[in-house]
Amino acid sequence: MSEITEPTANLVEVFSAIQGEGLNVGTRQIFIRFAKCDLRCHFCDSDHTWELANTCRMEVTPGARDFESHSNPVALSTLLQSVERQNLAGLHESVSITGGEPLLHARFLKAFLPQLRESTHLPIYLETGGHRPQQLSMVLPYLDWVGMDMKLPSVSGEQRWTAHAEFLRRCCDASVGVFVKLIVSSHTEPAELEHSARLVAAVNPEIPVFLQPVTPLEEPLAAGMVSPPSAEQVLTWQTLMKRTTYLNGDSAERRMLKQVRVVPQTHKMIGQL
Ligand code: SF4
Repeated sequence: MSEITEPTANLVEVFSAIQGEGLNVGTRQIFIRFAKCDLRCHFCDSDHTWELANTCRMEVTPGARDFESHSNPVALSTLLQSVERQNLAGLHESVSITGGEPLLHARFLKAFLPQLRESTHLPIYLETGGHRPQQLSMVLPYLDWVGMDMKLPSVSGEQRWTAHAEFLRRCCDASVGVFVKLIVSSHTEPAELEHSARLVAAVNPEIPVFLQPVTPLEEPLAAGMVSPPSAEQVLTWQTLMKRTTYLNGDSAERRMLKQVRVVPQTHKMIGQL
């Protein structure tokens, strides 16, 4: 008889921290950071996740940064134990599944997330590049929230409009909460923001959109691509996105986004990991 092997995944780290981006900003989360990404955004501050490493690190005491090392790949039960150890009563609002690109681990997540929910009773939040709708469908039943990056070609060097639209549609069809995050730099093309506003409004104008001014990297991956926008640029772009209209099919209904907020990376302001 063949043995049933436990699912495993390549991880970077597990730790407890304050969420610094998007709709959940300021809340305390348990972060599970998965290894590997198939994109190469110019502004990436997680390029250490791009390749597989032999080991990952898991925090022992929530927020103390007293990491212990584990070999990769990590067994599902080991990861679950690490999260349970972090999950002190009343401390965390949710669990963040992040990376890298966590949807590269969709098969593992499909097995892991139901057990994670059962053991922690915490909402599950996925942070993703938003370009893998098929893999998203594998895990949507186990998600409460999705934070989707919309990649602007002028800032990230990536172009994924069709996949982004499909991704948002699948979240809405499954009634899973979703918001969109757009990283903007001094090089952002306004036409791309207009296109993004129409794309989101076409799916659902209630989807919150966050403009996130890029945080300068200490060692830029591509010279000149990561300078933050000026306050005037951001004001102009917020106005543009809030006033862009989308004509909804044959109904002649004009749609505008309900929420376009500007929030920089707050965790970097307090020097948090
Ligand atoms: S999708 Fe995220 S992890 Fe991947 S390259 Fe872009 S910013 Fe980095």
